[in-house]
Amino acid sequence: MGAADRAARVARETVVPYVSDSYHSPKLELRWIHRREAGVFATRAISRGEVLTISGGVVLPYRKVRTLPRWFRRFCFYIEHGYYLAPSSRRRIGLGFYMNHSCAPNAGDLRGELALTAVALRPIRKGEEITCDYRPVLDPDDRRYRSLLTFRCRCASRRCAGLIRA
Ligand SMILES: [Zn+2]
Repeated sequence: MGAADRAARVARETVVPYVSDSYHSPKLELRWIHRREAGVFATRAISRGEVLTISGGVVLPYRKVRTLPRWFRRFCFYIEHGYYLAPSSRRRIGLGFYMNHSCAPNAGDLRGELALTAVALRPIRKGEEITCDYRPVLDPDDRRYRSLLTFRCRCASRRCAGLIRA
């Protein structure tokens, strides 16, 4: 049994409601990994290519994102050209925004990148944590990217990048 499964077994489970602008597969749920860290987990086996989450929200430039509370900035994704996607509400946040980072993710878009719409990149077992790669896909001409989050990754993948800026 993996660490994620053990943690999940003892974790308190939280139901994330459907938010009007977002979708999540009924095969997913939020679980608490530690007291202050939650993650998205599969409650049933998932096939490669299945849609996991569609994260809608409001699109904001960096000067607006910068004014958001620090805890809420964690939920914002960089899109491109200085714009970020933020959940529409601070109280009702779609499940997709809770997905944790991995350098070897099992969810992402069809190129394995941006996860605004996340599909399963490979078959996912019941109980497995759903992860995506937070690192932005940068256009070489895009100089407006500012990272909102810097952390040390512990994904244990052989391709782990270590320090992640997202
Ligand atoms: Zn990593």
